[in-house]
Amino acid sequence: MSYTLTVHWTIEPQTAPRPWRACSRCRGQRPFVCSGKTRLNANGRRLDAWLIYRCADCADTWNRPIFERKNVREVDPDTLHALQNNDLAWIRRTAFDVEDLRRSTDRIEEFPECRVRRRVRARPFEGCNRLEIVLAVAMATSMRADRLLAAELGVSRSRLARLAAMDRLILQPETRKNLQRSIRDGTRIMLDLSAEADRAEIIERAQEGAPSG
Ligand SMILES: [Zn+2]
Repeated sequence: MSYTLTVHWTIEPQTAPRPWRACSRCRGQRPFVCSGKTRLNANGRRLDAWLIYRCADCADTWNRPIFERKNVREVDPDTLHALQNNDLAWIRRTAFDVEDLRRSTDRIEEFPECRVRRRVRARPFEGCNRLEIVLAVAMATSMRADRLLAAELGVSRSRLARLAAMDRLILQPETRKNLQRSIRDGTRIMLDLSAEADRAEIIERAQEGAPSG
């Protein structure tokens, strides 16, 4: 008989990464914030596309290159459609794409805060003492696995580390120090709570979230 509760957590980062750049109007380094708007320029068959950012202090603009001097036939049709229609879902995805942002700036401020949506996939009839959490992470986040689990399960990071040292907490795919790494799409977390006196509360938080406050 299975005593495992399986729950899917969909992780949604709340704040897009902010590039820090020299603002000519403020005369210093400032954070820039995505404006939610794009610009597409055609020059013959060549296209340039940018995502528009604004200085957080003075609203001066910075154009983040999406692509430059690209032949219209080389542009992915979905990307072109999104650019022509100011597709907000595409803009949001791009604004959160920190790896692509690194191509155009060195200094990036990241915000690990996430919202977690929970969905129970399998529930044992009784005596639940193991948790399996599967993460869906559509957009890159710098949230570490131990910080996420500590916040969402109400278990301290030192206790999580002890559980991991006893192989009662296992992350897959397994990598070195994976509790301290940023969470990835598809990460599977297995937690054996059979020796934990407060397992009912932890299991409750896994499916309902921590009480606010
Ligand atoms: Zn400025």
